Amino acid sequence: MSKSRGITISKSEVPLYAIILLAGIFAFGLFVVGYDQGHIFSIVLGEDAYAEQFIHELTHDMRHAAGFPCH
Ligand SMILES: [Zn+2]
Repeated sequence: MSKSRGITISKSEVPLYAIILLAGIFAFGLFVVGYDQGHIFSIVLGEDAYAEQFIHELTHDMRHAAGFPCH
């Protein structure tokens, strides 16, 4: 009776484009949550967006909880 031993090598690769796409989404999300002071809405609203700071107000508590500098 012979024993046979097999070596199983599982090879899973994450595609490079998926890493680049997720890194882009991460960077954009980090900017929105942590650093936006009206920059994104200024595309549509112009200078008023810097005074209103909609996204800043939306993510304000999250910024403080995460330790981002806010004000
Ligand atoms: Zn604050």
